Amino acid sequence: MSNSFIIDCALCKAKVAAIETGRTVQKGFDDEIGEPYGYMILVGNCPICKHILVGEMELIDYDRYDNCERWSDVVRVYPKPPKTFSSSRIPRVVKDSLNEADRSLQSGANIAACVMLGRALEALCRDILSPPASTFIPVAPPIPAAPPKKIMLGEGIEKLKEKKIIDDRLYDWSQQLKAFRNLAAHPEDISISREDAEDLQTFVYAIVEYVYDLTDRYEEFKSRVKTYTT
Ligand SMILES: [Zn+2]
Repeated sequence: MSNSFIIDCALCKAKVAAIETGRTVQKGFDDEIGEPYGYMILVGNCPICKHILVGEMELIDYDRYDNCERWSDVVRVYPKPPKTFSSSRIPRVVKDSLNEADRSLQSGANIAACVMLGRALEALCRDILSPPASTFIPVAPPIPAAPPKKIMLGEGIEKLKEKKIIDDRLYDWSQQLKAFRNLAAHPEDISISREDAEDLQTFVYAIVEYVYDLTDRYEEFKSRVKTYTT
């Protein structure tokens, strides 16, 4: 009997037991963190639509005494690989939230995905709108001040529009995401379709791309053009 692995089929939009046709593993020991690491790539076909599916697993735990390994769930890397961004300014919390949202979507957890997408956008608002930490060191002991109020999603979206960091269309998408995030974050009896959650994911990707990647790229372009013309 052939091996199979559970993976989200991007065409069937469902978890399937893909028929495995090949795998490769890379394992080693990370001296810096003093832990073993491992990656496994699995190749197979969807049993329903027969499409090629490639997934990746990560080694989560290794028990030396029992020689027992624990691997993560399979995350699809082909087709529709996880989205990547080029800007180095994107905070880790934004990226982590987007990854978590994608994993939730792939496992059919649409409500969790919406919560994570909202978290990503809220983190973007805080990063873009919060003033950078002051490097000024006072001579006298500082007067204890109340910690600065953290920007919440609704207020953040309004400010992004006010400061023209996002345009009207991105603002509308953000409002939709906020509405779904609010529904998802409260213990109401709701369901969110995969289609809606995937659309919201596309909107958040567009906002992140616009605010970070495209802005960086345009700045680079401008400074390059300036060197030709001066
Ligand atoms: Zn399929």
